[in-house]
Amino acid sequence: MSVSRIGGFISKFSQIFLGKRMIIAKSRKDLERMREVGEIIAEVREVVRAMIEPGITTLELNAVAHKMMNDAGAKPAFLGYQPSGLSPFPFVICASSNEQVVHGFSNDKPLQEGDILSVDMAASYNGFVGDTAMTVAVGEVSDEIRQLIKVTEECLMIGIEQCQPNNRVGDISWAIQQHAEKFGYGIVRDYTGHGIGRSMHESPQIANYGRPGTKEKIRPGYCFAIEPMLNLGTYETITLDDKWTVVTKDGKPSAHCEHTVAVTVDGPEILTLTKEQKAKRNTTKNETASA
Ligand code: MG
Repeated sequence: MSVSRIGGFISKFSQIFLGKRMIIAKSRKDLERMREVGEIIAEVREVVRAMIEPGITTLELNAVAHKMMNDAGAKPAFLGYQPSGLSPFPFVICASSNEQVVHGFSNDKPLQEGDILSVDMAASYNGFVGDTAMTVAVGEVSDEIRQLIKVTEECLMIGIEQCQPNNRVGDISWAIQQHAEKFGYGIVRDYTGHGIGRSMHESPQIANYGRPGTKEKIRPGYCFAIEPMLNLGTYETITLDDKWTVVTKDGKPSAHCEHTVAVTVDGPEILTLTKEQKAKRNTTKNETASA
């Protein structure tokens, strides 16, 4: 889930609880737990991804995510999440379709061919939180929308590459911005990535635009939720009357993806990967190393 930077309901929360707080470096034992919860939430994400097709409803996806978290002994982190002044978030996943950017409600309306769906989810397990999101095409989508999703995923990986000791948070923001702007996409300003650990939202805020060499210095043990949100049109967003659902101001589609990442002395480690994805990544790394 994203943290509001300006103007929104979480902005007060983020200023009070994030702005002045220290970034919490995780111990080796903490990181072990972050890995556990990261893997749990990644397994849920991939099961939900595979279910997304024309005809399925977001309520069905929500129910599956809920059951999988329960079965794993994990607690859904969004369900009941309540920033001050707001009603508790009523679902396990954020299901945001088409022009919805983030924090969408699940419903019983079947998804249709050509839609896109962003699913954001988080869980806590053993005292630590994992947070991840994806945007998935429902059946066939236009080339324009396919590219929006692809570039958002690329921005995520480019941002993660900057999660290196001695880099600065602004380096992550800048890397994402410069890639997104090559395609002329609107980079959402109102919501940002964040530190993560025992709480879903920890310091620092990680905007998806910024200047290199600025903001906090990155150190080993920090854990970040990196989450670019890109719009096909304007970056401006509005919040619907339900006080949660964020949509693009011009009604054009939006994509969002997110990983929870640990900074290690060797560089970034993506925590929200499934066992299978981790094995694949290690194989690729080893092949590269021996090549
Ligand atoms: Mg998040």
